[in-house]
Parts: sequence; C-alpha cells; structure tokens
Amino acid sequence: MKLYNSETRTIEEFIPYDEKKVNMYTCGPTVYHFAHIGNLRSYIMEDILERSLRYLGYDVKRAMNITDVGHLSSDGDTGEDKMLLGAKRENKTVMQVAQEYTDAFKRDMEMLNLKWPEYVVPATSCVADYIKIISKLINTGYAYYSHGNVYFDTSKLGKYYRFGNEDASNLSVGVRETVEEDENKKNKNDFVLWFTKSKFENQALKWDSPWGVGYPGWHIECSAISLKTLGEHLDIHCGGIDNRFPHHTNEIAQTESYTGHRWCKYWFHVEHLITKSGKMSKSSGEFLTLSLLKQKGYAPEVYKFFCLLSHYRKQLLFSYDTLDSAKNMYDKLKDRIKKLNFNENFNIDKSVYEKFDEQFKSSLANDLNTSLAITAIYDVLKSDVNDTTKVALLKSFDTVLNINLFGFLNNEQENQGSKEVPSEVLKLIEDRKIAKQNKNFEQADKIRLSIKSLGYDIIDTREGTIVKKL
Ligand SMILES: [Zn+2]
Repeated sequence: MKLYNSETRTIEEFIPYDEKKVNMYTCGPTVYHFAHIGNLRSYIMEDILERSLRYLGYDVKRAMNITDVGHLSSDGDTGEDKMLLGAKRENKTVMQVAQEYTDAFKRDMEMLNLKWPEYVVPATSCVADYIKIISKLINTGYAYYSHGNVYFDTSKLGKYYRFGNEDASNLSVGVRETVEEDENKKNKNDFVLWFTKSKFENQALKWDSPWGVGYPGWHIECSAISLKTLGEHLDIHCGGIDNRFPHHTNEIAQTESYTGHRWCKYWFHVEHLITKSGKMSKSSGEFLTLSLLKQKGYAPEVYKFFCLLSHYRKQLLFSYDTLDSAKNMYDKLKDRIKKLNFNENFNIDKSVYEKFDEQFKSSLANDLNTSLAITAIYDVLKSDVNDTTKVALLKSFDTVLNINLFGFLNNEQENQGSKEVPSEVLKLIEDRKIAKQNKNFEQADKIRLSIKSLGYDIIDTREGTIVKKL
C-alpha cells in the first residue's frame, strides 16, 4: 500500500509498526451541531481507508473521540466554547446538546453505512488521563502553570510544526474570529492543556485537578484517547486538512514529549469540500446536511459515490449540478448491474476474477485512488466474462466502496412492481419454494417457466427470492 503522508509530504510505502496490524485514530466530531456534508467527506474517506486496509490484508484497530468539552471556536485557545454556543442556541444543557448531536452523528454514520470504530470515547470520560499526562509534562519541563492555566511550552521542542517548513508563528489558527493574544503564555505558539481561568463563567463542565477546578483543552483529548486505546505507537492519524494546525501539531508536541519517542507514522488528511463561495461551514450559506440531501431526493450512497469519484487529497466542489451528474452515473450503473443474469450459476472464471481483483486492489493501494477503483467496476461490466464472475467481483468491490450496488436484491421499494405482483404469480412462487425444499428441482423449473409465461421472473439470492417484471 502506498499512502501520502502529510508529515513528509510524499507518497510512501505504508509500513505499520507491527507488520500487518494497523492502529488508526480518527478525530471525531465536536457534538455541538449537526455535521455538514463537508465534515462527512472526511469520515467517508477514513472509512474507505479502513476498509481498503482490511481488503489488502491488514488487521485494523481504530479509535475516535467525541469532543463534548474544551473545543473553542477558534480551534486554538480563543473564541467561544463550541458546546456552550450549542447549549445557548438551543436553550439546553451542555450534556443534552452533546447527547443530541452524538445521536445525530451516529445516524449520519448509519445512513452512510460507515463502520463505527472499535473505540469511540467521549472526551468527558477521560479526565483522569488528561491529568496524568499534564502532570508528567509539568514534571519534565514541557508544560508550565501560569495565571490559572497550564500551557505547553513549545520552545522546548526542536521542531514544533511538522507538516511543512513554515515557521508556525506565521500560521494562522483557522479563519475564524479575531485573534486575542493571551498574555500569560511564554511563547506565541504555546497552547492550553488545562483551563481553570475561563472567561466562560457559565462553563458547566468542570473537574477538580492539581491546578484548580477546570477543564481540559481540546488537543490533549485526542492525545490521551489515542494513547489509552491504541498505545504509544500509532500507525495512521486521520482528520480533515484544517486539523493540521494547530490541532494535530499540538497533538504531536504533547504526545511525543510525554512518551519520549516518535508517536504517529502516517498522517492522513482529507481535503475540503467547497462550494462556489468557498469552504463549507456551518455558519455561512445553506447548512448542508445528509438529511437535507435525503429530503431533496439524494440517497446517502449517492453522496458517497460523488465523494469517491474524486481523490481525497483534492478539494471537491459541491453543487447540485455536480451531485446530479454523480446521481445520474450511479443510477445508470445500478441499472446495468440489475440487468446481469442472476439466475444461472456459471463457474467463476478464476483467472479473470483475479485479474480484476488485482486491478481493484492496486487502485486502492495507489494512495487510495477511489476513482480508479470505480473504473474497475466499469471494466468488469464491459468485459465478456460470464455474469456470475461479474456479480462476484462487484459484490467483493462493494465491501470496500460500500455504495449499496446490490441494494435492489433486498430492497422492497426497488423490487420492481413487487407490490402489484398478481396473486397467481405469488402462489406459483410459493409452490416453487415448496418444490425446491422437497428437492424436486424438475418441478421447480417447470413452475419457473409458468411464472415467466405470466410476465415475471424470479431471482434466487442468499437473502431470499425476489420477483421482477420481465
Ligand atoms: Zn483530534
């Protein structure tokens, strides 16, 4: 597998710490609002990365945080607390808001059929871990206490910003809000590990700590949760591209200072989804959620297909026009698959199967080139191999791409006209089922011909028999 590593800014051969075992960490949502479809692009691509690794023979263990405390609207140490903003907006408590949007995020993941990681950890459940890490950082001189807060001392590091050669002091924290300088810091890039002096008097979530009652900074949450669930050696850390600075930069700083050795080998960043007016956000333009797309008639797998047509390291322009063309392509693709012969069982042509499977695998192994992986689907359909081999290949590809290519086999609504199937045909289907159960295949074939003469055909699948109009 070849993968682009944001830290070295090159495509590298992917070699995990432990041969075929992969530890993977994903920055999870801050649960103060719905996820917009730009956020979801990252989760889709991370899911494809995990599925691809599994398909290529790796064993993957994955963890994700749910940020329910400590994330300020600037991504740094300034701005408003996002959870408090959500609570204020909805006149609810912070915990109610956290629960509501954690559930909403889960629904989005389910709609997209994304795998829920092995470990999903709410930030508020790990306070003892933050305190342990921060205490050690203070004892080893990497952190200091100043006027109520604990800060990480970035001047103690040889190289603080690791995703490029820029000097971090030239990097800006997001594009949000006005920058307020915190005069209690020793260096401009120092960041808060633990807040006790909060300007938010109504900060609802506070814990006792050696430095006073307060709450953790956002960055320490991901470091602690990753260390706790996946250990001190991480293979891949994922997130949206805007997490590179300050979030991931700070994660590296504090984690490696804490463990005393190199932490994460590969950084996987997904580029932005943009609209004509710029980067998608929750506060400007139409608030695009998966549910909104669904209401407008775009199935979640259509949005996923739309994302897969582009490479994850390229900005993706969203418009209803581009989504419509993806939908068109997707519908046509499914129509072609529906026309395959599901009834006869040919022998799988092993050499052709392996050739296409190799093609599919090498597109995934080529820095997750999902558009080439989709091309493999078309190449299979175009080829003159028998339909049983085609179906087997496409089903296998769909375990990675996961775009519901065979949904029609068990989806009532797509089961063409099944609601109006004449009772005569339904009776014959029942008779045929009994004949097959009694192993009277000759009789079953005869009944099938009778069904055909009435203008219907049946498809036997592992999930049951479905009927379609001829
Ligand atoms: Zn994170």
